[in-house]
Amino acid sequence: MTAPAISTLERDASLDRLERDCFDCVVIGGGITGAGIAREAARRGARVALLEAGDFASGTSSRSSKLIHGGLRYLAMGDVALVRSTALERKVIHAMAPHLAEPRWLVIPARARASLMTLRAAVTSYEKLGAVERADLHHNWSRSDLDEREPLLRRERFAHACVYREYLTDDVRLVLANLRDAVGAGALALNYARVTGITTEGGRASGVEGCCGLSGRHFRVRAGCVINAAGPWVDPVRALEDPSASPRLLLSKGIHIVLPAERIPVSHMLILPTEDKRSIFAIRRGAVVYLGTTDTVYERGVETWPEISPEDVTYLLRAANRNLAIDPLLPAEVTAAWAGLRPLIGEAGKAPSEISRKDEVWIGPERVVSIAGGKLTGYRPMAQQALAKAAQATGLALAPVAKEVSPLPGGDFPGELQDLAARVASDTGLERRRALRLASLYGTEAAAVAQRSTTPLVSGGLVLAGELDFALEVDGAATLEDILYRRTRVALYAPEECDALVDPLSHKVAERLGWSEEERAAQCKAVQEQRAHDLAFQAADQSAEGASP
Ligand code: FAD
Repeated sequence: MTAPAISTLERDASLDRLERDCFDCVVIGGGITGAGIAREAARRGARVALLEAGDFASGTSSRSSKLIHGGLRYLAMGDVALVRSTALERKVIHAMAPHLAEPRWLVIPARARASLMTLRAAVTSYEKLGAVERADLHHNWSRSDLDEREPLLRRERFAHACVYREYLTDDVRLVLANLRDAVGAGALALNYARVTGITTEGGRASGVEGCCGLSGRHFRVRAGCVINAAGPWVDPVRALEDPSASPRLLLSKGIHIVLPAERIPVSHMLILPTEDKRSIFAIRRGAVVYLGTTDTVYERGVETWPEISPEDVTYLLRAANRNLAIDPLLPAEVTAAWAGLRPLIGEAGKAPSEISRKDEVWIGPERVVSIAGGKLTGYRPMAQQALAKAAQATGLALAPVAKEVSPLPGGDFPGELQDLAARVASDTGLERRRALRLASLYGTEAAAVAQRSTTPLVSGGLVLAGELDFALEVDGAATLEDILYRRTRVALYAPEECDALVDPLSHKVAERLGWSEEERAAQCKAVQEQRAHDLAFQAADQSAEGASP
């Protein structure tokens, strides 16, 4: 059976089909929420079209901390139902795509025995809610364990640690895997297809109008049900239906910064306390470690690339410098950064970090179904909930929810990512670290990538020529930024290689997609400007002192 594909080489045919077919359901937004809804609806027999204004996952779903987690801290806020649901989802996502939910030990250091005991009690409840297997239950580290296993944690601050299981993902690839699975079940998914209007018949939504961002072609889509899954853009899309609708969302910005792993050589995923009694993650990924995140109200309006301020960066560096025995990290050492907006449901008088991460579904006056809030981890229950409401409000007919869990593309292997990586290495002759990177991005589809070509795109680089073909033919990439930021993820995890790839890669993509020289140059400039924008905080005067413990 051929793997489901979203081919950029067949965009015109997709646009034709969009206008020709009549759909049961059109989903607005190609982040994790929309992708999950499209997959669930298509697998339950609905004819689905999903339209994404930019690239798939170009909104919040490429800017997360990349954890599949229940959110231990939400237990303290009393959100037991949310934590139960997301904690249980960790196992399900692991079963669907072990490469996109890799079990890792997460270390929470504690200063004193009493705080360790409090932590243990919380983690024990969390594990009960998530039905955690015996082998994955938490354990505690003494001072000598810390010396041996995570010597970077400052001993004068921490004498103990509680170590428990969480799961590391790649948010974009989780979105793509869900979208491609939806396509495999008959859905049509198109990026660079902004919805600009809702069409109505007899006072009810009957479809949408939109425009292709690459060709400028306008289109109209007929559908019995319209679902708004536009994340931080949910309010503007609600306004397309009802210009008088009052905003429901509160946007909270979260940033992450990337540093070379040799400057911050942690062995595990860590939680580090901040001065304002929050905490941040330090997460090792290949040759880099990323730190995040912040949680601050964002009032500048919704945008794809929120600004990263020097204060955001200093906040994260101070937490690292305070808790880790390292030479103080400086803003100039940051090699990449990303910022995203959380689409939280506003709660009067509460700071963003106090607001529940629960999701809500609203039915508009013309029966457009809008869903917002939630987390990456909870995307499957969110999809089921949105579709149940859509069925009630619009009569959308769906088969019952499937009981069995089926794998996502690339997720059809039992067990460990390391075993898959070993297999990829022996089948392809790739060295271990390359095979591991390929396996963690593509799962069993690493073989299909390697079959296309195992030649690195730049000498000594990680990204293979086969990944470019896979991105265009299977993963729906249409721009240089799509490939560097969201398909291969080098802009985040190997920023130096990203910079070196811009020019050579642009020539190859131009050849495949028929770009003019002018278009090729514009694509290079866009990525270079984006990289400069990501690191613009470095231009501000940042002294070593500002980030010191
Ligand atoms: P988005 O991903 O933003 O998708 C909405 C899409 O709609 C966008 O791609 C946008 O382009 C599109 N769109 C907008 N307008 C239109 C239109 N008119 N026509 C067509 N398309 C349109 N969750 C976790 O579980 N684990 C984590 O570790 C985690 N970390 C996080 C860290 C940060 C800093 C942030 C900000 C969030 C984090 N989250 C995490 C939460 C999670 O990332 C979000 O809940 C989730 O990604 C939201 O997905 P979404 O699909 O609703 O929104």
